[in-house]
Amino acid sequence: MENGHQESAMVVRRDVPVPPPLPARFGTSKVVVRRRGCCAAASTTETWDRLFDDAYRADVSIQTSSDDVIYAHSSILGLASPVFRSMFKRQSRSKRLFIVPIRGVPTEAVRVFIRFLYSSCYEENQMEEHVLSLLVLSHSYVVPRLKRECEGQLEHKYLNVDNAIDVFQLALLCDAPRLGIICHRLILKNFKAASLSDGWKAMKESHPILEKELLETVSYEAYRQKEKVKKANERKVYLQLYEAMEALVHICRDGCRTIGPHDKAFNKHQAPCNYEACKGLESLVRHFAGCKLRVPGGCVHCKRMWQLLELHSRLCIDPNVCRVPLCKNFKDRTRKQKKKDDIKWRILVRKILRTKSITGAPYFSLAASS
Ligand SMILES: [Zn+2]
Ligand SMILES: [Zn+2]
Ligand SMILES: [Zn+2]
Repeated sequence: MENGHQESAMVVRRDVPVPPPLPARFGTSKVVVRRRGCCAAASTTETWDRLFDDAYRADVSIQTSSDDVIYAHSSILGLASPVFRSMFKRQSRSKRLFIVPIRGVPTEAVRVFIRFLYSSCYEENQMEEHVLSLLVLSHSYVVPRLKRECEGQLEHKYLNVDNAIDVFQLALLCDAPRLGIICHRLILKNFKAASLSDGWKAMKESHPILEKELLETVSYEAYRQKEKVKKANERKVYLQLYEAMEALVHICRDGCRTIGPHDKAFNKHQAPCNYEACKGLESLVRHFAGCKLRVPGGCVHCKRMWQLLELHSRLCIDPNVCRVPLCKNFKDRTRKQKKKDDIKWRILVRKILRTKSITGAPYFSLAASS
């Protein structure tokens, strides 16, 4: 087998052995993609198309909605679709023509459908115009290849807010779950526009139950989104509390900017602190140290500080070495506390620890709260 590549290679480097020809299935010269969705050789598809167009020795008469007739071959149709096959099996063979009515879709859609059964080809504009009819036909006559093609085209090209309701209903009818989910998502995302579409109005008339179900999913989705935001906000608060707890340990242990530990000389030139929570906490600690109303239930700032100190003690692993003020006192008090209050604190401690880490190490522990 000679080809241009081999000849030129031999001319350039005669001393290099000629590579063997590629296996035939890798050769690209014979494969042409003439239309979308078709990868058969052009001459082959032309033959099949001609067989359909010329209706040579056709033995099937397809009758469409507008009383048009499309001729076809029972052998091709029966081979491509099990539904046609059983239809022909049931019909009397004595008749010259099998009569097959296909109504409810435009004649042109039926023609595109039958042509696909011959050559596995279609024109792009035909698909665009008749994709919904082709989806129904491919489902009804069990032609999975065309059905997959229609689903893919709808998903990637033709699905929009205006036709989403129609496509959604067809997806349910034609057992196309993926397409159904994609439509549903699109409807939820663009509910206002989708509910104003003609498809929605038609559905309201013909399938009020489906409309009710859709409305329920829309309100559930709104609720879910709300819950998500609520949870995210909650998580943010717990995370801030966790960071405040870390910063409190750091302030009392290492000192930070204007506050130093009681047994260490405070270094004015220390490196900037990495704890974001220090800024707020530092002024709170300074206020707490100087406030005249330093009693539980007194000044709001002090009250907050009391709570933070108690929370710290609930989280603290070892109050004997801890430098946070009142840590040990709170621990002792906790042991005498009422069970109801204790449970509340334990829930809070668990939520805080779970936002940041499982164990709370090195300073905090879930076990410390029990
Ligand atoms: Zn700091
Ligand atoms: Zn105060
Ligand atoms: Zn402590």
